[in-house]
Amino acid sequence: MPLAIRADRLLTSSLVEVIQDGVAVVDGETIVQVGSWIELSETLTGIPIKELGDVTLMPGLFDCHVHLQMDPSAMGSTEITLSDEELLPLIRKNAAKLLDAGVTTARDLGSRGQTVITIRDRIARHEVPGPRLQSANAPLTVPGGHACSMGGECIGIEQCRQGVRSRHAEGADVIKVMSTGGFMTPNSHVWEARYSQEEMNAFADEAHKWGLPITTHAVGTEGIARAVNAGFDSIEHCSWLAKDRKTHFDSGIAKQMFEKGVAVVPTMNTACTHDNFFCPWDERQAIINNLSAVREAGIQVAVGTDAGIGHCHFERYADGLSAMADAGFTNQDIIASATERAAKICGLDKVTGKIAVGFAADLAAFGGNPAQDWRAFTDPRFVMARGEIYEQQAIAPLEDLSEIKGNVMELLRRSAGV
Ligand SMILES: [Zn+2]
Repeated sequence: MPLAIRADRLLTSSLVEVIQDGVAVVDGETIVQVGSWIELSETLTGIPIKELGDVTLMPGLFDCHVHLQMDPSAMGSTEITLSDEELLPLIRKNAAKLLDAGVTTARDLGSRGQTVITIRDRIARHEVPGPRLQSANAPLTVPGGHACSMGGECIGIEQCRQGVRSRHAEGADVIKVMSTGGFMTPNSHVWEARYSQEEMNAFADEAHKWGLPITTHAVGTEGIARAVNAGFDSIEHCSWLAKDRKTHFDSGIAKQMFEKGVAVVPTMNTACTHDNFFCPWDERQAIINNLSAVREAGIQVAVGTDAGIGHCHFERYADGLSAMADAGFTNQDIIASATERAAKICGLDKVTGKIAVGFAADLAAFGGNPAQDWRAFTDPRFVMARGEIYEQQAIAPLEDLSEIKGNVMELLRRSAGV
């Protein structure tokens, strides 16, 4: 049975104007009609209508970088200590919190074993609520490297290729490589490249051979450069950290990224907000300037939050958008990065990311109008994931981090040896 969803404002994509008094009709998992109420109302006789009122109805959002096995209320570590049986309910809970924010597609970029895939498939069968999930499973990393405890250690060209083949055999949707160290893994050398150019080439070649997109955690500039050379599809974080342990945007590498279409998921989140800044490697303004330079270089940017790491909660998606706004992203840019650009990066641009006939019934509605002010994203009012309405819980207020953020930064710096 179809259902018509009517809203005072309808935004079908970031490229078009808001339709006043719009309606989207869904049938099962698919959008079957979309337009203004005046145009379509005569055709809707007998179809139930859900009236959303004074909200903007738009495509469901993407979070291109989450860690569903992690509990953000604990201080972050990449060591997953829970058993698989304990992880399953945690993943379900975290997935539901993404729906609370209006996120209907998420990409998990680092987990142990195959429990994320288990929940991905249960969500796909409508057995449990959650966004459409893609999973990298265990990230490929050097022995002792960033997130090595997740089980993806490999070194040398043959092991690197085998690592990709193992993820493919498990049913992973995307390959994730740790091309530099990370702050949450002690002694993993944040600013240094961990794989040779030849190993990076092997990862990209093998992933593309199996039809899988490949992305990389890259904080240091050397790791970014090797990933771009190797033909990786996207870069996570892209923090431009150099040997002097400061950020230095590299316009030469950025130009190559633009030309090759390498996207960036800058993982802006609660840690990057003005009032709660606790990013460990540089001042806030340096991070904002880097992101601004990425934008000016014309590189495609998609929203990802790294939710799951300490104090970055799954439902507080909008926190990271404030950093993007500060870096000069317009409201339209932010909407595109949260929907269509993200869909492209996830290989889902023919499936979801806009409201159009034949696309998935992935919808979200917000108070206010995000096309005029991105802060509308702090007020999610409705979400539908593949045709199913989910009763959203209120977004938890921002934690007061003033007492702890100094300690958090110190802990991260010390553990990374910065
Ligand atoms: Zn991450």
